[in-house]
Amino acid sequence: MLYGVFSDVHGNLEALTEVLSFFEKTRVDAYIFCGDLVGYGPDPDACVALVRGLRKSLIPVCGNHDQAALGIIDPNWFNPYARCAVMWSRKMLSEESRTFLSRLHPRLDAKLFTVAHGTPRRPAEEYMLTVVQFKENLSKVGVWPLFVGHSHMPLYFRVRAEHDPKVPDVEVDTIEEAREVAAERKPYGVVPIVFNPGSVGQPRDQDWRASCALYDSDLMTFRVVRLEYDIQVVQQKIRDAGLPEFLALRLAFGQ
Ligand code: ZN
Repeated sequence: MLYGVFSDVHGNLEALTEVLSFFEKTRVDAYIFCGDLVGYGPDPDACVALVRGLRKSLIPVCGNHDQAALGIIDPNWFNPYARCAVMWSRKMLSEESRTFLSRLHPRLDAKLFTVAHGTPRRPAEEYMLTVVQFKENLSKVGVWPLFVGHSHMPLYFRVRAEHDPKVPDVEVDTIEEAREVAAERKPYGVVPIVFNPGSVGQPRDQDWRASCALYDSDLMTFRVVRLEYDIQVVQQKIRDAGLPEFLALRLAFGQ
């Protein structure tokens, strides 16, 4: 089965539209969404509506910004830009969007994989960024691979299947465009591996293009795709909405 994997849309409708039309052209069978539809960007409700309307099987989790927009978590933990945008997003959400988001959990254990916004142990808070965090979370996952978002960086963590004392036992790297990373199946199960598709609406790896990925569950391969979209339209919408100028500027730098 081919999955379209995406995360951290953050109210960026132009980027989301590109990603979803790419998935449609590629004829994905289903979607894995790693959380954060709203926050930062100018179209929170339209983004929730688009994802809500995906007819094919959508396997979604919510993110910390989604929860803050619903009032589940306290936005005072956010930086001032994020807090301002999430309070604005809260007012923009329709009843249908609120209902959709409120049914999502920040972690989901599916039959063939696990999805968490941040990490399995603290899915709404922790960023999976270091080997130590990866190791500490190993025992919290029942079924590998694990898909995460939250850091807005396309990357993977993988336990090396063959033990070699000369090299570290965990491999971690960012995934540049078109690179394919594969999970490994062993008699005892899948070798622990984490995939992050990067961010649709606010990439932070110095590449402004929308990031998403394709996961082939038969071959267990994960490939990152980058897509251009009209960034100036989004920047103008951010300004028109009266959101902080910084949120418009950072999009152009992929920060
Ligand atoms: Zn995010």
